[in-house]
Amino acid sequence: MRKPCLGCVLKHLGAAAVLEEEIRNGYPSYKFLLYGHMDQAAAEAWGASKMLAKVIRQHRVNFQYRKDYDIPFEALVEYVAAVETMREDPDENEREKADMLAPPKECLRGIDIGGDGKPIFDGDTRP
Ligand SMILES: [Zn+2]
Repeated sequence: MRKPCLGCVLKHLGAAAVLEEEIRNGYPSYKFLLYGHMDQAAAEAWGASKMLAKVIRQHRVNFQYRKDYDIPFEALVEYVAAVETMREDPDENEREKADMLAPPKECLRGIDIGGDGKPIFDGDTRP
């Protein structure tokens, strides 16, 4: 497994945000680059927080398969900061909670929510 790096998560989210803007400004071919950066962001996040990685992946899937999908980048950045804070906690039990830290509500905009209030991920049903 790749060593997690939340700095790289932010770097790739930033690149994806710039590309989303470019796509809106008339460069649709940049979609492929955005998929790649979102995929890298999820891969870098996995070892720090599986929930964060899954949320990033689901936004990539939604962007790829839905029309005019809007990724909530600012909320994602706040979520990364919350995971980072938790991972720096001196208490090991607190640090471990970062793995499944619940995302801020705005971070789940566009993601389906189940009856249990938890996000529904497409898992392996989509590439
Ligand atoms: Zn890094």
